[in-house]
Amino acid sequence: MEKRELVIIGAGPAGLTAAIYGRRAGLDVLLLEKGVPGGQINMTEEIENWPGVKHATGSELGVMFREHAEKFNTEFRDCNVEAIEVKDGVKVVRTDKGDVEGEAIIIATGAYFRKLGCKGEDEHIGAGVSYCAVCDGAFFEDLEIAVVGGGNTAVEEAVYLTTFASKVYIIHRRDEFRADRAAVERALSNPKIQPVWNTVLEEIAGEGMVEKLVLKNVKTGEISDLPVSGVFMFVGQAPHDEFCKGLLGCTKGGWIQTNEDMETSIEGIYAAGDIRDKNLRQVVTASADGAIAAMSASSYINEQVHLRSTLFEPDQVNAFFYSSVDQGQVALSNIAEEMKKEKGLNIVLIDGYRNAKMTEKLGIKVMPVLVELRKGSIIRMTEVKGEADLQKLDS
Ligand SMILES: Cc1cc2nc3c(=O)[nH]c(=O)nc-3n(C[C@H](O)[C@H](O)[C@H](O)COP(=O)(O)OP(=O)(O)OC[C@H]3O[C@@H](n4cnc5c(N)ncnc54)[C@H](O)[C@@H]3O)c2cc1C
Repeated sequence: MEKRELVIIGAGPAGLTAAIYGRRAGLDVLLLEKGVPGGQINMTEEIENWPGVKHATGSELGVMFREHAEKFNTEFRDCNVEAIEVKDGVKVVRTDKGDVEGEAIIIATGAYFRKLGCKGEDEHIGAGVSYCAVCDGAFFEDLEIAVVGGGNTAVEEAVYLTTFASKVYIIHRRDEFRADRAAVERALSNPKIQPVWNTVLEEIAGEGMVEKLVLKNVKTGEISDLPVSGVFMFVGQAPHDEFCKGLLGCTKGGWIQTNEDMETSIEGIYAAGDIRDKNLRQVVTASADGAIAAMSASSYINEQVHLRSTLFEPDQVNAFFYSSVDQGQVALSNIAEEMKKEKGLNIVLIDGYRNAKMTEKLGIKVMPVLVELRKGSIIRMTEVKGEADLQKLDS
């Protein structure tokens, strides 16, 4: 089976940034993408919150990201990832173009805003139809707009949009919002917000840009027009997690849980970008996640490769595990290093603090310690109390 060091799934801002960092760290990187590299930003005409680029279309930024990853010879593969399988620590990515084993995997498949599915929606995405208030709110300065939805996101984003818009209609199919009381009170006390109860959006109309919404009252059946310049859909966002459902620790909504190093519940698998459980889903946060995930994966891969070749593959090896944050233990490691050089002592020095996971896996609870391994199995562990214990190795 094909084997690679780092397999990244998804070439959006998170995956492309991870590829740049991974390649610069000298890793063999394979980037799998089923659509157009750049990810969700390809759907927007305006990006003006990516630092250093005052304005670009989403696809322009996507091309820049892709070219940047290509500059460092990232290998791209056009394929759909169907599953990830993990058995005895071996991680395999199954795709419609074959299977790949990855020493480490970064999942960066992003998320999608659920569409409402009404007439005229697809044609006006990026032309007045938006799924992201932080991204697009500023384009509606002093204009009248609408929000569709009744949950927390819809109500809170409607309040945020009043920073720009002269009026924000909230179109909701019921006669009260599902959002928290505090959020509802804040929205209803805002003079720029006007709820439109018991109403659904039937059609978005306009030559090029959005000009009006066709609404239907669900109680009376009455049809009416609402002239607006934009409409924000907040009928839910969901992660692209079809291929890894049930594999990793996730929230109820399917968002992958990570720590701040982007580590998931499975060692060697990382998640970055919108697919993660997080508050702010933006290009800048996705890229930051990608950089962190790649550096975490790089440390993990180096640790695995180094430890495999030094500890587990040789017929017999003595290893000295110490902690690099303990001055006494560092001094002992220096003595061991000198003995190794001057007397040709057969010993491997491992910083157990930096290789904490491996140390834990080996069952090492106290450091400094001398560990004797034969063909990858520990046959003896001896706590080192001072230099004399190291000198015994020489005899
Ligand atoms: C209309 C719109 C406007 C936006 N405007 C802004 C803005 O102005 N500023 C801003 O900062 N953010 C904006 N955002 C949000 C921003 O685009 C996202 O936060 C960002 O793209 C997330 O990056 P990501 O890499 O995590 O995921 P994504 O960009 O979603 O990329 C994930 C990639 O993974 C691929 N993929 C998914 N599943 C698979 C699979 N099974 N196999 C292979 N590949 C797969 C997808 O095809 C996609 O290319 C906007 C979003 C939208 C929808």
